Order: sequence, then structure tokens, then C-alpha cells
Amino acid sequence: MDSFGRKIDYLRISVTDRCNERCLYCMPEGYKGWEQQAEHLTAEEILRVARVAAELGFRKFRLTGGEPLVRRDLPDIIRALAAIPGVEHIGISTNGTRLAALAQPLRAAGLDTVNVSLDSLDPAVYKRITGGDVGAVMAGIRAARAAGFERVKLNCVLMRGVNETDLWPLALFAAEHGTPLRLIELMPLTRTDVLTEKNFFTVSQAMHLLGQKDELIAQPNRQLGFGPAKYYQLRHTGALVGFIGAMTNPHFCETCNKMRLTADGKIRPCLGDHGEIDLRTMLRATRDDAALRAVFAAALQQKPQEHQFRARYQPCRPMTAIGG
Ligand code: SAM
Ligand code: SF4
Repeated sequence: MDSFGRKIDYLRISVTDRCNERCLYCMPEGYKGWEQQAEHLTAEEILRVARVAAELGFRKFRLTGGEPLVRRDLPDIIRALAAIPGVEHIGISTNGTRLAALAQPLRAAGLDTVNVSLDSLDPAVYKRITGGDVGAVMAGIRAARAAGFERVKLNCVLMRGVNETDLWPLALFAAEHGTPLRLIELMPLTRTDVLTEKNFFTVSQAMHLLGQKDELIAQPNRQLGFGPAKYYQLRHTGALVGFIGAMTNPHFCETCNKMRLTADGKIRPCLGDHGEIDLRTMLRATRDDAALRAVFAAALQQKPQEHQFRARYQPCRPMTAIGG
């Protein structure tokens, strides 16, 4: 439990700050702030932190980044993570471009669920947002569905004038493929010129837009995974759509259940708060897991009540370095 009475049992681990795409809202073209390879935690160090977290009661783990699939030892990390007592669930967040080749090995290693980022089905719009090829993501989604994961979900970041007309095609795609779609408000974690009022599109506006095409039926008790999405089902298409209103929902943080481990070994109690606690120095200086556990537990108590995104938050580190 944190100091506000929330049960925190979900650790999101960034395994790298590297990525093969350049999303406008995350790590735009020209980004130069790469961390040195030596700064990244090794597989062994990541697993040691995960073991300590599991001892403290963490049960759900997500591997993210950057793009986790660019890390070659990802299947080994998943296999070892799945064997840690207390680890009940392992998911990844991926841009999907490398899933076609890796879905099966990752499933075999013990991965339970996959979230794939997909901001548009239109190749030109997808390229404009990410710099990448939507065809590769489609192949990845097909491979993930064939590999038999418990669940494959789609993540879409809302940007006005960029992908608002793509929401309805995405909802149809979600219905057709049985993949819940989550619509996420843009958070201030990239270049400030992208974070303008002009680009911002709220979940309420997205609901209104989809509501003009189909009827949205609230799914009050529906939890698909462990995230903060509020789910609705579209009556006629059957699509399940989750809305993540981190910026506009004043109650967003009340049910927060997670902490983050950055690729360079810092505990980040809240995505939207600059506070970080270094674990890497201790990981490299001592084999004493009790000491590590104490630092981790103290970090949990530093988790703030709510994020600072609405309070002139300046994006010092982009999303890719923190772990989305
Ligand atoms: N590369 C993987 C991917 O794209 O899914 C994992 C890392 S990415 C940082 C994790 C999630 O964060 C993605 O769904 C992405 O769309 C989302 N994201 C990145 N920057 C964001 C921002 N500024 N606001 C809201 N969501 C963002
Ligand atoms: Fe890479 Fe994911 Fe960030 Fe896009 S959202 S740049 S795919 S880490």
C-alpha cells in the first residue's frame, strides 16, 4: 500500500530507451538524448529488481520502453521473470513492428498479453505519426493473435487534426479482430511544439465522435488488464473501446496501482512527477537484497497523490526514457 491507501502491485519495466520508430508524441525525429548502453540495467539486474518487487507484493509486470522488442534478450528476460514466485502476469507494450517474428517465441517464453500501439490504419497517417510502416504492425497483430495470447489490445494516442478521423476505422478494426482499443489523451512527454492546445483531443471528444457512429454502452465493472481505461462497448459493431483520460479526468490518479522502473535503473513512482529513486548504484554495489528491498519500499511511500501534468509540467525526459 502507498501512503494514500492505494494498493500498488503493478511494475512497468522499461527494458530500453531505444526504439525503431519516432512517434511525434514520444520520441520525435532528431532526438539525441540516448542513454549509454552501460547505463541500462542488464537482464540480471532487471530480474533482481523484479524479484524484490515480487517479495514486496507486486504481482503484475509489464515490459516496455522504448521498444522492448529491440532488446535481443527479451525472451530470456520473460522466461526468467515468469519463474519468479509471486509473478502472476506479464505483459508487453510494443509498436508491433517486430511482432511477426517474435510473437510465438515470446508466448512460449511465458508472456501473457500484448498491447500494440496503433494510431491509424492509414499508411500515410501512420507514417506521419511514427515514421514507420503500418503493414509491419498488421503482420505483428496477426502473428500475436495466432500465437494465442490471453489478450491483444490496441493503444491509440489522440491527436486533433492528426488521427481523429482514424478513430472510427480503428474501432471497426478492433471489432473485427477482437482486440479492445484504448484511446489515450496526449500527455506532456515530448517536444513542447507537439504539445499544443491545437493538437490536444480529449477522451470526451473522442466519445462524442464515436457516439455519432454507434451507441456507446458503459461497461462499469469491466477490467481488461490492470490499466486505468474506462470501457464502453459499441452496440452495433461490438467493439470494446477504453478511454484513458489522464489529462481531463480529475479522479484519474485515485485508482493508480503502478510504479515504474526506468531503463537506467531508477524507480519512478509516478509517470507524471519528476521524482526518481536510483537503484542502479545499489544494484551494482551490493548483493544485499534486503537493502534493495528497503529502498524499493521507501520509494513506494514517495508515490505522490497525483501526477503533475496539469501543473506546467516540463518534459525533462521523454516517454521513451521513462518507460510508457
Ligand atoms: N514502443 C512501445 C509502444 O509504442 O507501445 C512501448 C513504449 S510506448 C512509450 C508505450 C505507450 O505510451 C504507447 O501506447 C504510446 O502510444 C504511449 N505514449 C507515448 N508517448 C505518449 C504521450 N506523450 N502521451 C500519451 N501516450 C503516450
Ligand atoms: Fe517508440 Fe513506442 Fe515511443 Fe513510438 S511510442 S517512439 S514506438 S517507444
